[in-house]
Amino acid sequence: MAEPICCGDYLVERVPVEEERQKLEIEEVYTAQITPQQTARALQFASKMLPRLDGLEHVKRIKRETGDTVLHVILCQCKALDRDQLDGRLRDTEWADLDIAVGRVPTTPPYTREQFDEWRTLWPVAYRPLVKLKAPSFSDDEKAYIQMCLRRVEELQEGAASGRSVAAAIGNPNTRQVVAEARDATAESGNPLRHAVLCCISLVAEREVAREADRAQKRPASPPETGGGGDGGYLCDSMDVFTTREPCVMCSMALVHSRIGRLFFIDPSSGGGGISRYSMHSRKQLNHHFVCFQCTRAGKRAL
Ligand SMILES: [Zn+2]
Repeated sequence: MAEPICCGDYLVERVPVEEERQKLEIEEVYTAQITPQQTARALQFASKMLPRLDGLEHVKRIKRETGDTVLHVILCQCKALDRDQLDGRLRDTEWADLDIAVGRVPTTPPYTREQFDEWRTLWPVAYRPLVKLKAPSFSDDEKAYIQMCLRRVEELQEGAASGRSVAAAIGNPNTRQVVAEARDATAESGNPLRHAVLCCISLVAEREVAREADRAQKRPASPPETGGGGDGGYLCDSMDVFTTREPCVMCSMALVHSRIGRLFFIDPSSGGGGISRYSMHSRKQLNHHFVCFQCTRAGKRAL
C-alpha cells in the first residue's frame, strides 16, 4: 500500500479500490500430468476437443513443480464438463489413460503484488499491475491547495450550530479554488436529503442553470472557472470534493453521477459509508470511478 502523502497539516492516503480488496476466490479445473514432450499435442487436443477456458485468461495453462519431471496441464473447467463427459471426450484418444485430477485456480487476476504472491501458490498466474494503482504524487502547489480545502471544510464544520455537523466543499483542481461549500442542512431545512455533499452539488447546479439562462439571453456569461459545470457536460466533471466525513451511499452515488475526479474525506463513516463499505469510487458495475483519499490531521493520527 502506498505511503501517506503529507499535505501540510494532513496526511493524505489513497483509499484502496475494489480490486485491491479482492479476496482469493477459487474455481476447480481438471488437470492432467503430461511429459514436456506431450505439451504441444495436449494443448492442441484441448483447444479442439474441450471447452475453452472462460474468464481465466490470467491463469497459466501449464504448471511445473520444482524438481518435477512431469507437467500439470489444465484440460478444462469443471463447470464446463462433468467427469463422465470429460472421460467420454478422452475415450479412444491417445489421452484415454491420462491421470486426471481436480486442481484449484484463482477466479480473478491478481491486481496487487500481495495478491500475486498469495494466489500463485495455488497455480501459476499472470500479474499485470493496474495503472490506476500507481502511487499518487502532488506538486507543492497542489499540496497547499489540498490543505487549504481541508482546513476550509473543518472551519466550516466548526462554525456549525450543531457540533456533529458535516461540511463539504468542491474545489477546481485547475484554478485551485473552492467553487462551492456547504454544511449539512438536514436539521434546519427538515429535508433529510440536504446532506453537505448534495448541497454543494446543488450550488454548482444552480449556478449552471443561471449561466445557461445568461447565455440564452445573450448576456455575458459568468466566468466558467469559478462555477464548476465541467467540460464533459457533467456537473462536477473532474472536480475535487472535500468533506469532513466520508460520504454516505446516497452522496457517493451522487458523486459518481456528477463525474468528480477526486474525493478527500477526513473522518470515516461509522458503518454505512459509501466508500469504506461499498467501494463506490471504484465499483466495476458503475460507469464512473474516482480516486479517493482519506485525510488525517497529522497530530491526530495516533488517536
Ligand atoms: Zn450523504
